[in-house]
Amino acid sequence: LRETEMLLRSPICCILGHVDAGKTKLLDCIRCSNIQEGEAGGITQQIGATYFPIENIKARTMVLKADATIKVPGLLVIDTPGHEAFANLRSRGSSLCDVAVLVVDIMHGLEPQTLESLNLLRSRNVDFIVALNKVDRLYGWKKCPNAPIFNALKQQPDFVKTEFNTRVSQIITQFMEQGINTALYYKNKSLSDTFSIVPTSAISGEGLPDLLLLLVQRAHKTMQERLTYTDQVQCTVLEVKVIEGLGTTIDVVLVNGILHEGDQIVVCGLQGPIVTNIRALLTPHPMKELRVKGSYQHHKEIKAAQGVKISAQGLEHTIAGTALCVVRNSDDIEALKEAIMHDMNDIKDRINKTGVGVFVQASTLGSLEALTEFLKSPEVNIPVRDFSIGPVHKKDVMKASIMLDKKQEYATILAFDVKVMQDARQLADELGIKIFEADVIYHLFDKFKGYVAALRE
Ligand code: GDP
Ligand code: MG
Repeated sequence: LRETEMLLRSPICCILGHVDAGKTKLLDCIRCSNIQEGEAGGITQQIGATYFPIENIKARTMVLKADATIKVPGLLVIDTPGHEAFANLRSRGSSLCDVAVLVVDIMHGLEPQTLESLNLLRSRNVDFIVALNKVDRLYGWKKCPNAPIFNALKQQPDFVKTEFNTRVSQIITQFMEQGINTALYYKNKSLSDTFSIVPTSAISGEGLPDLLLLLVQRAHKTMQERLTYTDQVQCTVLEVKVIEGLGTTIDVVLVNGILHEGDQIVVCGLQGPIVTNIRALLTPHPMKELRVKGSYQHHKEIKAAQGVKISAQGLEHTIAGTALCVVRNSDDIEALKEAIMHDMNDIKDRINKTGVGVFVQASTLGSLEALTEFLKSPEVNIPVRDFSIGPVHKKDVMKASIMLDKKQEYATILAFDVKVMQDARQLADELGIKIFEADVIYHLFDKFKGYVAALRE
């Protein structure tokens, strides 16, 4: 039809890993050093994502003298690090993220959230690269800013090399215990079954060229099929936000296809499907230094892959982490509504049919899914009676209170990464409902377990 059909869209990359492994810093490092070198050329900040054009990546990876036959137009890196964004970027249980970076702190090895991330990546079948971060913290490390890791390692005294090798083999063993083969990327001879490790420093930039090159190469080699641009809209809601002057907006990642101003769309709502029209397609202004309120660039249309803010009427109850679809002339709108609610129904299937269990609450469908998946696992095995998405309100406390007469330990709300409203907290205190809050899933489990143990004493 059009030349666009021949093009590859940009691969979408997520960053996951344990808290403090350096996810945010690594993202900053990819972004900033570009700007510092005066090569900002084309890097654009999008809604919830940053776009790196291929010219930029080529410039940064030049030191590696790599073959530059990379055909993808660029790389779209999702700015919200952590498995929440990753969990949200999905449609019908499979991931819309093309490649991921699993960040591991070389001084700590695999940690609980690394394992959570690993499980998510495996369950969604996503290719990933391990960034073995904080190499500069090895005792005696000589900084080689932004150098390829192989060159940086050559500069190190023998005792640093020895410590590096010891730690790397320990971490490879830890991965093996999880049933995952890994190898340093320059020693990896079997890309089909062995994941690559790139040692990095998000502070001094060693290994960053390697990481960038590997990301686009992975995308290019293994995902040509998936990355072919199509007109079929694939779009997922990352966040729901109230913006002054715009009302409730949704921040989406457009993975494939085109969105137009005025398009009729269907999104998943807490009370059912929402059908509305796109009032505005917004991105931040390019080169915007100051975060001026309400200062967005309007677009008539936007082509994948991009992060976009959508303003439209009636988005108040949209659930983050669900798909968005566009209604075209020939489409059966009832069928679309049903399809869009599908994800929500999957979660409902996870609820304990006997009506006994805890109340769970999370910020998005993706994180709710991750939480219920975790609670269901045999090692954890905590039944869920009901759930909600968004801040904890009085009505949620009321629902949880049903368990008071049945099983006290389940008269509990496990709140993952959400706010608890003051009046809800008050009511919970009055009724004797425990609310456990955490932004790390396994912390919720620890808190709950501790509480149950105390109750039984
Ligand atoms: P996140 O929780 O995974 O996003 O981790 P952050 O990016 O917030 O980093 C956590 C802490 O580790 C911060 O104090 C960072 O400055 C520090 N950090 C991150 N990456 C590196 C690194 O490569 N080297 C060193 N020395 N510190 C790092
Ligand atoms: Mg962070």
